[in-house]
Amino acid sequence: MAEHPHVHDHDSPEGLVSVEDARERVLAAVKSLAPLELPLTDAYGCVAAHDIVATIDLPEFASSGMDGYAVRAADVEGASPKQPVELVVVGRSRIGHRPDVTVGHNEAVQIATGAPIPAGADCIVPVENAEAAERAVRLFEAPPMGKHVRPAGEDVKTGQVLVPAGKRLGPPELGLLANAGHPAPMVHPRPRVVVLSTGDELIAPTETPDFGQVRDSNAYTIFGALREAGAMPVLAGIVADDVEQLKEMVFAYEVQADAFISSGGVSVGERDVVKAAFFRRGDVEFYRVAMQPGMPQGFGHVEGKPYWGLPGNPVSVFVSFEQFVRPAILKMMGRTNLGRPEITAVLTHDVSGPKGKMQFARVVVQRTREGWRATPTGARGSNLISTVARANGLAMIPPGIEMAPAGSQVRVQVFRSSED
Ligand code: AMP
Ligand code: MG
Repeated sequence: MAEHPHVHDHDSPEGLVSVEDARERVLAAVKSLAPLELPLTDAYGCVAAHDIVATIDLPEFASSGMDGYAVRAADVEGASPKQPVELVVVGRSRIGHRPDVTVGHNEAVQIATGAPIPAGADCIVPVENAEAAERAVRLFEAPPMGKHVRPAGEDVKTGQVLVPAGKRLGPPELGLLANAGHPAPMVHPRPRVVVLSTGDELIAPTETPDFGQVRDSNAYTIFGALREAGAMPVLAGIVADDVEQLKEMVFAYEVQADAFISSGGVSVGERDVVKAAFFRRGDVEFYRVAMQPGMPQGFGHVEGKPYWGLPGNPVSVFVSFEQFVRPAILKMMGRTNLGRPEITAVLTHDVSGPKGKMQFARVVVQRTREGWRATPTGARGSNLISTVARANGLAMIPPGIEMAPAGSQVRVQVFRSSED
């Protein structure tokens, strides 16, 4: 880290990397996953890797927009309730079948909504304006050519782009692609991310702790955050503070992982197992970011897969996932808008920040008649996970500012909507 050109940030204490630089380094080091043809139900929420182009017209054939009679406009000219025109019914066009009749001069074909227009016909008289007779029909309306006909290619023409490269497939895109005969579009897949929790003190949340033991919370925070970002979390469980055990676990999951996230064990203590396992191995680096919470961070590649060594404190995990992991996961999925929406809000209370570090204060943002208000949800300790659970935003108190007073403006990253 020391030789990295951006670390000489005069606002921050010696040796700290700014949040922006740390994020840039991560983003520069991850690539979007190679595109795959995925069935539509798996492709949902994924980003199109190329322009997806129509190979057919939509609709593919002209069909009727009404139940009624397919006729020639010229044959019913002048028809009215007082002066109906009588045509010979030569057959019917059923939905889902090629018509086996054509409409000749003074002929009509009975037709259902959605059924193909038989050759020769150029408009539809709805059944409400018709009266069936013996092998004939009396029509009371003179529709213009094309009336109630849904022409082929009205929606999409062959060669037109259905979904542009870079677009995320939402519900309407799935429907359109299905209709246009693209059952397995080329998309960037969702990364499978293996999640590990390190710490001798940790137990599963289903267990009852002995004194001093702690139920693993980080794995679940990360699970939810990955799901929310669109990735596929794989919970590998808890690893003791044992270098060999950690390495074994990581290598055991290597084949199925697109990336790894561990929490804990990245500080400077002798038990800091992630650092001990991966420092100067592969190319994982450990550095300190000018932020609170979340200062110690590890990031790099293990066996060619991105590896995040997040700090252990539960709030640090959430905040550093938001700053460094989420944007990178989105990039891996081919997305281009990588940040959360940001707003400017007025603080309702004083918020103090550590000198020379960006403070991410957990807040609830609310829109009032006077604009956005941000209310801190609790103290700043990085172990206070309930302060995140109550929040919907992270207010950023920049490095130079040690006290942002009530009434001052702050930028806030909004990580969920107020209804959620
Ligand atoms: P570490 O970075 O490993 O020293 O952990 C810092 C603090 O976070 C310690 O108090 C740990 O007990 C706590 N911690 C670490 N991992 C977890 C976890 N998965 N769930 C809950 N707390 C954790
Ligand atoms: Mg630990």
